[in-house]
Amino acid sequence: MTSTQNKSQTFISLVSGGLDSCVASFSATQQGQCALVLFFDYGQKAAKKEFQASKKIAKKLGAPFKSIALPFLAEVTQSALVMNDQVIPQIKMGKLDDRTESEKSAAQVWVPNRNGLFINIAASFAEALGIQSIVVGFNAEEAITFPDNSANFLSRAEAFFQLSTLKGIQVSSPTLGMNKKQIVAKGLELQVPFELIWSCYHGGRKMCGQCESCLRLIRAYHLNDLDKKLQKDFYYWPQEWKKTAPGKQAS
Ligand SMILES: [Zn+2]
Repeated sequence: MTSTQNKSQTFISLVSGGLDSCVASFSATQQGQCALVLFFDYGQKAAKKEFQASKKIAKKLGAPFKSIALPFLAEVTQSALVMNDQVIPQIKMGKLDDRTESEKSAAQVWVPNRNGLFINIAASFAEALGIQSIVVGFNAEEAITFPDNSANFLSRAEAFFQLSTLKGIQVSSPTLGMNKKQIVAKGLELQVPFELIWSCYHGGRKMCGQCESCLRLIRAYHLNDLDKKLQKDFYYWPQEWKKTAPGKQAS
């Protein structure tokens, strides 16, 4: 963590309903109290599911929940995350670590300055409420293709807040530098309710299991032997891993 939090400090958590922000929030409660969960609805296809997940996560954290609508973002972006005529890209499990493939996928789901916007809104809330810290869920896997998920982004945001806020709001990410496997392992340690998480780019009844975000989550669950427990949350689970799920045979 980049900030100097102590037990008495409170923080604002940016929660999307996905794995990283959920585990990051729970992890941060080891050092402080979550004073507010902020969720952003920018017209993404998964907004309703992410909203529901984030609200439940806030409840588990014992924190007030606030959803902020940013409808203009959908108007200015061509991202497949919001445009109905744009298909959300699929990537093969074996290609997740192929930089060319993941950069192609990332470009299709990129929303202009999304994290930059979110973190600035959070800083306004933090300053107004007298809260010194913001917690976000970044990860090492996506930092490669999403620069707004990186340590560099955090340190520059803090440098910016030195000028844009009176007390220099701090930003930290307990999951920074971790890959998804490590984040799930951390979540297990913290007894994070994984069944509440929504990481899918789509807004179906279950997570699709085929978009890049789902695949990264599935791989992390699999590497932590959670196949049997959590494959029910997805429409699709790799056939070969169904066979290896503890105590469960492929049908
Ligand atoms: Zn998905």
